[in-house]
Amino acid sequence: MSYGTTVRGARLSVHQYILREQTTTVPTRETINFLKTWEELFQLPGFVDRVPTELMTEGKLLRFYEMDQRAGLRPCGIVECLTDHGCGYVVALPDGRISHIGGPCGRILLGTKWAKAKFAFGIEKRKCRRVVAVHEQRALLEKLITEWPDLEHEDTAWARVTLNSFDELPASMRVALESGAMKNRAFMPGCLSGIRPDRRVDILLDRRIPALLNEARRALENVSLSAGELAALRRRLEALPQEVDSLICQLRLFVSQRNLDLLPLLRPLKQAGIRRVEYLPGPPPQFYVER
Ligand SMILES: [Zn+2]
Repeated sequence: MSYGTTVRGARLSVHQYILREQTTTVPTRETINFLKTWEELFQLPGFVDRVPTELMTEGKLLRFYEMDQRAGLRPCGIVECLTDHGCGYVVALPDGRISHIGGPCGRILLGTKWAKAKFAFGIEKRKCRRVVAVHEQRALLEKLITEWPDLEHEDTAWARVTLNSFDELPASMRVALESGAMKNRAFMPGCLSGIRPDRRVDILLDRRIPALLNEARRALENVSLSAGELAALRRRLEALPQEVDSLICQLRLFVSQRNLDLLPLLRPLKQAGIRRVEYLPGPPPQFYVER
């Protein structure tokens, strides 16, 4: 970034610019990676060793580190301590510089301030985990939406025209079949679930899926959603292509002649004098009803 860069249209003064550069390079919990070597620690921007206990007590714990065994031990950052150690905490000092405290040293040397610092560190860590989890879930949801499969293929086209021909059946017969499907009783002949009004694949494709995709897009704009809520939404979306296949499968069962042969046994169809129902595959497919 060069001097004179504008932020929201305002030109930065030299002082503001320097301040900004400083604050953007000071490591935070989010910008410090998992440290494995002493070099990675010592090379953090603003790193200082030999910090007086008094100043260290004012610091904020950023991250725990545990060096690789091969990295050996190094002195603690507290000048009154300087004991060799292999694990500890990266500390942000109030002046923006970075140092470190050996694992057990805080408890021994910093007293009650250490307990407070550890407490704040725990809160920060959990907050950070939540932020990371939300970030991951948002990325997964976004990927799912952008790579959403085209569900309009040969099988869905077949299901659509078949359901259209079902809709052209005499109204009384259609209503009888649909209410039979809704009752979902065990003794109901054959498989009626393919034509259940709330389980139709065309309704799923034209209404439920677009609605859920919209909900997911809105969720990506909503910063207050938790990782759990985002994950739940993603899982609901992920299940939909499979549901489309399953509903098509049920519709194929419905139009099988073995199933259609059972329909005249249904009381309302029997009363209407329907003796035989056939599915003629077409194109276009249509139902043949013999009275
Ligand atoms: Zn120490």
